[in-house]
Amino acid sequence: MNNTRAPHGAVPRTILIVGGGLAGRRAAETLRASGFEGRVVLVGGDPGMPEERPRIEWLNDHVDRIDYANRFAWLRHHGLVCFDACLLATGGRARMPSETGGVRQAYPLRTKAEGQRLLETMNGARTVAVVGGGIHGLEFAANARAYGLEVTVIESAPYILNQSIPQGFAERLRAKHESHGVQFVFASEPPGISKSAAGISIHTDRGAEDFDFCVLALGQLPNDDLAIFSGIDANNGILVDAYCRTSAPGIYAAGACANFPLGKDRRSTRLDSCQNALDQAVVAARNMLGELIEYRPVPWLSTDQYDWNLQILGVFDAQVERWTERSVGEGRTLLMGLRHGVIVYALAVNHGAELRAVRRLVEDAVPVDLCEFEKLIRDFESEESTRLDSLLTTNS
Ligand SMILES: Cc1cc2nc3c(=O)[nH]c(=O)nc-3n(C[C@H](O)[C@H](O)[C@H](O)COP(=O)(O)OP(=O)(O)OC[C@H]3O[C@@H](n4cnc5c(N)ncnc54)[C@H](O)[C@@H]3O)c2cc1C
Repeated sequence: MNNTRAPHGAVPRTILIVGGGLAGRRAAETLRASGFEGRVVLVGGDPGMPEERPRIEWLNDHVDRIDYANRFAWLRHHGLVCFDACLLATGGRARMPSETGGVRQAYPLRTKAEGQRLLETMNGARTVAVVGGGIHGLEFAANARAYGLEVTVIESAPYILNQSIPQGFAERLRAKHESHGVQFVFASEPPGISKSAAGISIHTDRGAEDFDFCVLALGQLPNDDLAIFSGIDANNGILVDAYCRTSAPGIYAAGACANFPLGKDRRSTRLDSCQNALDQAVVAARNMLGELIEYRPVPWLSTDQYDWNLQILGVFDAQVERWTERSVGEGRTLLMGLRHGVIVYALAVNHGAELRAVRRLVEDAVPVDLCEFEKLIRDFESEESTRLDSLLTTNS
């Protein structure tokens, strides 16, 4: 975070937050924690209100439109709400295939209610197709195996998790799943779904196969329709600058709905992770109070699949110039991608402590001479140095 106080930041009296998910709630908490004494109105479509609400007016409603020039919002049930500044924290929704044939047994993964319905279906089912071999699909596949279901993952890219990990590692992750009994179908196009006597039928260029039900894990789309309808710029998410400001004065956005410039090359990025929702909301809230803090995250995600804890730091990037990897013992791997001598990407299997040390190098874009690597890491995390000895001997 790059923190500068805005020279003439007028503190607002009423702040409207649209969305009661992670980002919306964290923004409200941050406003109060930062000493904001004005009115905070949070409009959340989700009825699950937290018990602790630090002097927040929580309206269980939906914002239909925002007039940013005159600073008011239309709520479906509560009418007009005036504000001085507004945060859009409208999150995302599950991407759905263009055609599911109205099949009841096709479940998206997003809301608690969808999760509950899915759990009920798993009881008594024997086979499941997971459409989408991304992080959520694979996590579900591992859990479904533990539940005793026969699982087939259907992916239309050449390899699983293709937006997050290099192909060589994807093959190993696939082998891990296969060793636990998961089957994979790599189709050249997204599959079709129709009803069948057994439940559902999934059609790919490899033929049709019947399952009791399927889970749709095709990623998330941003909820940016409110912004678009209100005349605020959006393109795969609500466009914000490094300070979480949208194209409309006084309107900010954070979390899974926001598309922001990431890194030195200011790559247009939308992140669907808890860490991003929480951290970006803090920056947005403080900036609404007159600070001028840059949001400069290092994306991180963690997933548990079988006995592997997989953590990924940075953005998987085809522009990586050099890969280096160290595997220690059974199932422990640290893989790093360097560009211009700086670590821009790291993937760890059961190596979380080392990844925390590497994080500092990524955050500060420290140029790394691999021969000097051990010393650098010792400086950052001396207690981890013994285990990090292994990194020194690695060559790309
Ligand atoms: C199945 C699944 C598993 C996941 N697992 C992980 C994980 O292990 N680790 C991780 O880091 N991330 C995970 N994520 C992603 C993470 O949950 C999201 O990125 C994060 O919750 C986004 O928070 P948010 O506040 O931006 O949006 P959301 O949590 O989507 O909240 C947005 C809220 O805004 C409301 N809203 C939208 N429009 C309006 C409107 N016009 N008026 C009023 N309210 C509105 C919505 O109803 C919603 O309640 C997972 C996501 C899914 C779907």
